[in-house]
Amino acid sequence: QQGGNKYKLHTLSLDMIVSDNSNNISLETDLHYALKRQELELYYQPKISLKTGKIAGVEALIRWNHPKLGLIAPNKFISIAEASSLIEPLGEWVLETACKQTKIWHQAGFNFLSVAVNLSGRQFKQLDLFHRLTKIIFDSTLEPEFLELELTEQILVDNVKRNIQRLNFIKKLGIKISLDDFGTGYSSLGYLQQFPFDIIKINQCFVENIDRNSKNAIIAKSIIEMAHQLELKVVAEGIETEAELEFLAKDQCDEVQGNLLSRPLPVKEFSKLLLKNQDFTIVNPESIAAY
Ligand code: C2E
Ligand code: MG
Ligand code: MG
Ligand code: MG
Repeated sequence: QQGGNKYKLHTLSLDMIVSDNSNNISLETDLHYALKRQELELYYQPKISLKTGKIAGVEALIRWNHPKLGLIAPNKFISIAEASSLIEPLGEWVLETACKQTKIWHQAGFNFLSVAVNLSGRQFKQLDLFHRLTKIIFDSTLEPEFLELELTEQILVDNVKRNIQRLNFIKKLGIKISLDDFGTGYSSLGYLQQFPFDIIKINQCFVENIDRNSKNAIIAKSIIEMAHQLELKVVAEGIETEAELEFLAKDQCDEVQGNLLSRPLPVKEFSKLLLKNQDFTIVNPESIAAY
Protein backbone atom coordinates (compact mmCIF):
# COMPACT_ATOMS: atom_id res chain seq x y z
CA GLN A 1 0.00 0.00 0.00
CA GLN A 2 2.66 2.39 1.04
CA GLY A 3 4.57 1.57 -2.12
CA GLY A 4 1.48 2.37 -4.16
CA ASN A 5 1.18 5.74 -2.52
CA LYS A 6 4.75 6.53 -3.20
CA TYR A 7 4.33 5.59 -6.82
CA LYS A 8 1.25 7.80 -7.08
CA LEU A 9 3.08 10.71 -5.58
CA HIS A 10 5.91 10.18 -7.96
CA THR A 11 3.74 10.10 -11.08
CA LEU A 12 1.86 13.12 -9.84
CA SER A 13 4.95 15.24 -9.47
CA LEU A 14 6.30 13.94 -12.75
CA ASP A 15 3.04 14.96 -14.40
CA MET A 16 3.36 18.40 -12.97
CA ILE A 17 6.86 18.73 -14.25
CA VAL A 18 5.91 17.48 -17.68
CA SER A 19 2.90 19.73 -18.06
CA ASP A 20 4.84 22.72 -16.81
CA ASN A 21 7.53 22.00 -19.34
CA SER A 22 5.15 21.59 -22.25
CA ASN A 23 3.53 24.90 -21.32
CA ASN A 24 6.87 26.61 -21.57
CA ILE A 25 7.66 24.85 -24.80
CA SER A 26 4.44 25.98 -26.43
CA LEU A 27 4.94 29.51 -25.12
CA GLU A 28 8.39 29.44 -26.60
CA THR A 29 7.03 28.20 -29.93
CA ASP A 30 4.32 30.84 -29.90
CA LEU A 31 6.85 33.51 -29.02
CA HIS A 32 8.76 32.65 -32.18
CA TYR A 33 5.76 33.81 -34.18
CA ALA A 34 4.74 36.65 -31.90
CA LEU A 35 6.97 39.23 -33.56
CA LYS A 36 5.90 38.35 -37.11
CA ARG A 37 2.25 38.19 -36.12
CA GLN A 38 2.54 41.57 -34.42
CA GLU A 39 1.35 40.27 -31.08
CA LEU A 40 3.92 42.24 -29.13
CA GLU A 41 3.04 45.71 -27.96
CA LEU A 42 4.80 48.40 -25.98
CA TYR A 43 3.02 50.07 -23.10
CA TYR A 44 4.29 53.39 -21.85
CA GLN A 45 4.45 54.54 -18.23
CA PRO A 46 5.28 58.17 -17.51
CA LYS A 47 8.00 59.40 -15.20
CA ILE A 48 6.92 62.63 -13.57
CA SER A 49 9.37 65.35 -12.58
CA LEU A 50 8.86 66.43 -8.99
CA LYS A 51 10.25 69.86 -9.88
CA THR A 52 7.78 70.68 -12.64
CA GLY A 53 4.98 68.25 -11.83
CA LYS A 54 4.96 67.23 -15.48
CA ILE A 55 5.89 64.23 -17.56
CA ALA A 56 9.65 64.21 -18.13
CA GLY A 57 10.09 60.77 -19.57
CA VAL A 58 8.52 57.44 -20.28
CA GLU A 59 9.45 53.82 -19.74
CA ALA A 60 8.59 51.35 -22.50
CA LEU A 61 7.26 48.07 -21.09
CA ILE A 62 6.58 45.10 -23.31
CA ARG A 63 3.30 43.15 -23.39
CA TRP A 64 2.31 40.12 -25.41
CA ASN A 65 -1.20 39.91 -26.77
CA HIS A 66 -1.37 36.13 -26.94
CA PRO A 67 -4.17 34.97 -29.29
CA LYS A 68 -5.42 32.39 -26.76
CA LEU A 69 -4.03 33.41 -23.40
CA GLY A 70 -4.69 37.15 -23.64
CA LEU A 71 -2.32 39.84 -22.40
CA ILE A 72 0.87 38.34 -20.95
CA ALA A 73 3.19 40.30 -18.66
CA PRO A 74 6.94 40.43 -19.39
CA ASN A 75 7.90 38.48 -16.29
CA LYS A 76 6.13 35.49 -17.86
CA PHE A 77 8.01 35.48 -21.18
CA ILE A 78 11.19 37.57 -21.06
CA SER A 79 13.05 34.75 -19.32
CA ILE A 80 11.84 32.31 -21.99
CA ALA A 81 13.04 34.66 -24.70
CA GLU A 82 16.31 35.13 -22.86
CA ALA A 83 16.89 31.38 -22.61
CA SER A 84 16.27 30.79 -26.32
CA SER A 85 18.12 33.70 -27.94
CA LEU A 86 14.75 35.02 -29.11
CA ILE A 87 15.57 37.92 -26.84
CA GLU A 88 17.83 39.36 -29.54
CA PRO A 89 15.20 40.10 -32.22
CA LEU A 90 12.66 40.86 -29.51
CA GLY A 91 14.94 43.31 -27.73
CA GLU A 92 15.81 44.95 -31.01
CA TRP A 93 12.13 45.37 -31.85
CA VAL A 94 11.56 47.03 -28.48
CA LEU A 95 14.42 49.47 -29.03
CA GLU A 96 13.35 50.32 -32.58
CA THR A 97 9.70 50.75 -31.68
CA ALA A 98 10.39 52.84 -28.58
CA CYS A 99 12.83 55.14 -30.41
CA LYS A 100 10.58 55.62 -33.44
CA GLN A 101 7.55 56.33 -31.26
CA THR A 102 9.46 58.81 -29.13
CA LYS A 103 10.62 60.60 -32.28
CA ILE A 104 6.96 60.87 -33.31
CA TRP A 105 6.13 62.45 -29.94
CA HIS A 106 9.08 64.82 -30.38
CA GLN A 107 7.81 65.84 -33.81
CA ALA A 108 4.39 66.45 -32.30
CA GLY A 109 6.02 69.03 -30.01
CA PHE A 110 6.86 66.95 -26.95
CA ASN A 111 10.54 67.25 -27.68
CA PHE A 112 11.55 67.08 -24.02
CA LEU A 113 10.48 63.46 -23.65
CA SER A 114 13.09 60.81 -22.86
CA VAL A 115 12.42 57.12 -23.33
CA ALA A 116 13.75 54.33 -21.13
CA VAL A 117 14.14 50.83 -22.53
CA ASN A 118 14.91 47.75 -20.43
CA LEU A 119 17.86 45.71 -21.61
CA SER A 120 18.21 42.03 -20.82
CA GLY A 121 21.51 40.45 -19.87
CA ARG A 122 21.90 38.64 -23.14
CA GLN A 123 21.17 41.78 -25.10
CA PHE A 124 23.77 43.72 -23.15
CA LYS A 125 26.35 41.04 -23.91
CA GLN A 126 25.72 40.98 -27.66
CA LEU A 127 29.04 41.67 -29.30
CA ASP A 128 27.49 43.98 -31.88
CA LEU A 129 25.25 45.85 -29.44
CA PHE A 130 27.13 49.06 -30.13
CA HIS A 131 26.46 48.77 -33.88
CA ARG A 132 22.85 47.83 -33.36
CA LEU A 133 22.33 50.86 -31.13
CA THR A 134 24.05 53.10 -33.66
CA LYS A 135 21.75 51.83 -36.39
CA ILE A 136 18.61 52.19 -34.29
CA ILE A 137 19.50 55.76 -33.37
CA PHE A 138 20.31 56.56 -36.99
CA ASP A 139 17.13 54.98 -38.40
CA SER A 140 14.80 56.52 -35.84
CA THR A 141 16.55 59.93 -35.99
CA LEU A 142 15.90 60.29 -32.28
CA GLU A 143 18.61 62.38 -30.63
CA PRO A 144 20.55 59.77 -28.59
CA GLU A 145 20.47 61.77 -25.35
CA PHE A 146 16.73 61.03 -25.19
CA LEU A 147 17.33 57.29 -25.02
CA GLU A 148 18.01 55.68 -21.65
CA LEU A 149 18.98 52.05 -21.27
CA GLU A 150 17.81 50.43 -18.03
CA LEU A 151 20.05 47.70 -16.67
CA THR A 152 19.98 45.77 -13.42
CA GLU A 153 22.92 45.02 -11.19
CA GLN A 154 22.67 41.31 -11.89
CA ILE A 155 23.59 42.02 -15.50
CA LEU A 156 26.64 44.02 -14.53
CA VAL A 157 28.28 42.01 -11.75
CA ASP A 158 29.76 39.12 -13.68
CA ASN A 159 32.62 40.95 -15.36
CA VAL A 160 32.77 44.41 -13.90
CA LYS A 161 35.74 45.70 -15.85
CA ARG A 162 34.42 44.63 -19.24
CA ASN A 163 30.93 45.86 -18.43
CA ILE A 164 32.17 49.32 -17.42
CA GLN A 165 33.97 49.45 -20.75
CA ARG A 166 30.83 48.49 -22.65
CA LEU A 167 28.81 51.11 -20.82
CA ASN A 168 31.40 53.75 -21.65
CA PHE A 169 31.19 52.80 -25.32
CA ILE A 170 27.42 53.12 -25.27
CA LYS A 171 27.69 56.46 -23.50
CA LYS A 172 29.96 57.76 -26.25
CA LEU A 173 26.93 57.51 -28.51
CA GLY A 174 25.17 59.98 -26.21
CA ILE A 175 22.82 57.36 -24.76
CA LYS A 176 22.07 57.53 -21.01
CA ILE A 177 22.49 54.61 -18.64
CA SER A 178 20.04 53.90 -15.86
CA LEU A 179 20.45 51.43 -13.00
CA ASP A 180 17.09 49.68 -12.59
CA ASP A 181 15.75 48.10 -9.38
CA PHE A 182 18.46 49.65 -7.24
CA GLY A 183 18.68 47.98 -3.87
CA THR A 184 17.43 44.55 -4.90
CA GLY A 185 20.70 43.05 -6.08
CA TYR A 186 24.12 42.87 -4.54
CA SER A 187 23.96 46.60 -4.07
CA SER A 188 27.19 47.68 -2.67
CA LEU A 189 27.00 51.43 -2.67
CA GLY A 190 30.51 51.47 -4.07
CA TYR A 191 29.05 50.23 -7.32
CA LEU A 192 27.38 53.49 -7.99
CA GLN A 193 30.59 55.34 -8.46
CA GLN A 194 32.38 52.54 -10.33
CA PHE A 195 29.86 52.40 -13.15
CA PRO A 196 29.11 55.38 -15.40
CA PHE A 197 25.40 55.61 -14.54
CA ASP A 198 23.35 58.71 -15.25
CA ILE A 199 20.23 57.68 -13.41
CA ILE A 200 19.32 55.32 -10.62
CA LYS A 201 15.88 53.91 -10.01
CA ILE A 202 14.96 53.10 -6.43
CA ASN A 203 13.09 49.84 -6.41
CA GLN A 204 9.50 49.75 -5.25
CA CYS A 205 10.37 47.69 -2.17
CA PHE A 206 11.99 50.76 -0.59
CA VAL A 207 9.17 53.07 -1.61
CA GLU A 208 6.39 50.91 -0.25
CA ASN A 209 4.82 52.48 2.84
CA ILE A 210 7.74 54.85 3.09
CA ASP A 211 5.55 57.17 5.15
CA ARG A 212 5.04 54.48 7.83
CA ASN A 213 8.07 52.23 7.44
CA SER A 214 10.92 54.16 9.03
CA LYS A 215 13.58 51.78 7.72
CA ASN A 216 12.45 52.34 4.15
CA ALA A 217 12.34 56.06 4.79
CA ILE A 218 15.96 56.04 5.98
CA ILE A 219 17.14 53.87 3.07
CA ALA A 220 15.38 55.92 0.41
CA LYS A 221 16.62 59.19 1.87
CA SER A 222 20.22 57.98 1.97
CA ILE A 223 20.03 56.64 -1.58
CA ILE A 224 18.74 59.98 -2.82
CA GLU A 225 21.37 62.00 -0.93
CA MET A 226 24.22 59.78 -2.03
CA ALA A 227 23.07 59.68 -5.64
CA HIS A 228 22.85 63.46 -5.72
CA GLN A 229 26.36 63.77 -4.35
CA LEU A 230 27.47 61.55 -7.23
CA GLU A 231 25.44 63.80 -9.58
CA LEU A 232 23.02 61.07 -10.56
CA LYS A 233 19.34 61.60 -11.23
CA VAL A 234 17.05 59.61 -8.94
CA VAL A 235 13.78 58.04 -10.03
CA ALA A 236 11.53 56.22 -7.54
CA GLU A 237 9.53 53.28 -8.88
CA GLY A 238 6.15 51.92 -7.94
CA ILE A 239 4.53 54.89 -6.21
CA GLU A 240 1.03 53.81 -5.24
CA THR A 241 -0.08 56.31 -2.57
CA GLU A 242 -0.10 60.07 -2.12
CA ALA A 243 1.70 59.64 1.20
CA GLU A 244 4.60 57.90 -0.58
CA LEU A 245 4.67 60.65 -3.17
CA GLU A 246 4.73 63.39 -0.54
CA PHE A 247 7.59 61.71 1.25
CA LEU A 248 9.70 61.38 -1.89
CA ALA A 249 9.04 65.00 -2.82
CA LYS A 250 10.22 66.10 0.62
CA ASP A 251 13.39 64.01 0.17
CA GLN A 252 14.16 65.78 -3.14
CA CYS A 253 13.72 62.74 -5.34
CA ASP A 254 13.91 63.94 -8.97
CA GLU A 255 11.27 61.84 -10.70
CA VAL A 256 8.51 59.43 -9.75
CA GLN A 257 6.86 56.57 -11.58
CA GLY A 258 3.98 54.43 -10.42
CA ASN A 259 0.36 53.50 -10.69
CA LEU A 260 -0.69 56.48 -8.57
CA LEU A 261 0.43 58.76 -11.40
CA SER A 262 -0.41 56.45 -14.28
CA ARG A 263 -0.31 52.78 -15.10
CA PRO A 264 1.61 51.76 -18.21
CA LEU A 265 -0.60 52.74 -21.17
CA PRO A 266 -0.98 51.73 -24.81
CA VAL A 267 0.53 54.26 -27.20
CA LYS A 268 -2.72 56.12 -28.00
CA GLU A 269 -3.61 56.56 -24.35
CA PHE A 270 -0.14 57.77 -23.54
CA SER A 271 -0.44 60.35 -26.32
CA LYS A 272 -3.66 61.59 -24.71
CA LEU A 273 -1.89 61.84 -21.38
CA LEU A 274 0.86 63.93 -22.99
CA LEU A 275 -1.76 66.30 -24.36
CA LYS A 276 -3.12 67.00 -20.89
CA ASN A 277 0.32 66.94 -19.31
CA GLN A 278 -0.52 69.87 -17.06
CA ASP A 279 -2.70 67.53 -15.00
CA PHE A 280 0.31 66.44 -13.00
CA THR A 281 0.83 69.47 -10.86
CA ILE A 282 3.12 68.38 -8.07
CA VAL A 283 5.36 71.39 -7.72
CA ASN A 284 5.75 71.12 -3.97
CA PRO A 285 4.49 68.73 -1.30
CA GLU A 286 1.66 71.11 -0.30
CA SER A 287 0.11 70.92 -3.72
CA ILE A 288 0.02 67.14 -3.74
CA ALA A 289 -3.20 67.06 -1.74
CA ALA A 290 -4.91 69.12 -4.43
CA TYR A 291 -3.66 66.80 -7.13
P1 C2E B 1 10.92 47.17 -14.38
O1 C2E B 1 11.80 47.62 -15.48
O2 C2E B 1 11.41 47.39 -13.00
O3 C2E B 1 9.53 47.89 -14.64
C1 C2E B 1 8.67 48.33 -13.63
C2 C2E B 1 7.55 47.35 -13.40
O4 C2E B 1 6.74 47.81 -12.31
C3 C2E B 1 6.58 47.23 -14.58
O5 C2E B 1 6.09 45.89 -14.61
C4 C2E B 1 5.47 48.18 -14.18
O6 C2E B 1 4.24 47.90 -14.83
C5 C2E B 1 5.39 47.93 -12.72
N1 C2E B 1 4.80 49.05 -11.98
C6 C2E B 1 4.80 50.35 -12.30
N2 C2E B 1 4.16 51.08 -11.36
C7 C2E B 1 3.76 50.21 -10.41
C8 C2E B 1 3.06 50.38 -9.17
O7 C2E B 1 2.67 51.46 -8.77
N3 C2E B 1 2.84 49.24 -8.45
C9 C2E B 1 3.25 48.02 -8.88
N4 C2E B 1 2.98 46.98 -8.11
N5 C2E B 1 3.93 47.84 -10.04
C10 C2E B 1 4.18 48.93 -10.79
P2 C2E B 1 5.99 45.08 -15.94
O8 C2E B 1 5.59 45.96 -17.06
O9 C2E B 1 5.18 43.86 -15.66
O10 C2E B 1 7.49 44.65 -16.21
C11 C2E B 1 8.18 43.81 -15.32
C12 C2E B 1 9.64 43.74 -15.67
O11 C2E B 1 9.82 43.10 -16.94
C13 C2E B 1 10.29 45.08 -15.81
O12 C2E B 1 10.62 45.58 -14.54
C14 C2E B 1 11.50 44.74 -16.65
O13 C2E B 1 12.52 44.22 -15.84
C15 C2E B 1 10.97 43.64 -17.54
N6 C2E B 1 10.64 44.18 -18.87
C16 C2E B 1 9.56 44.88 -19.26
N7 C2E B 1 9.64 45.23 -20.57
C17 C2E B 1 10.82 44.73 -21.03
C18 C2E B 1 11.50 44.76 -22.29
O14 C2E B 1 11.05 45.35 -23.27
N8 C2E B 1 12.70 44.11 -22.34
C19 C2E B 1 13.25 43.47 -21.26
N9 C2E B 1 14.43 42.88 -21.41
N10 C2E B 1 12.64 43.45 -20.07
C20 C2E B 1 11.45 44.06 -19.94
MG1 MG C 1 12.79 49.22 -15.94
MG1 MG D 1 12.50 48.48 -11.90
MG1 MG E 1 12.93 44.70 -13.10
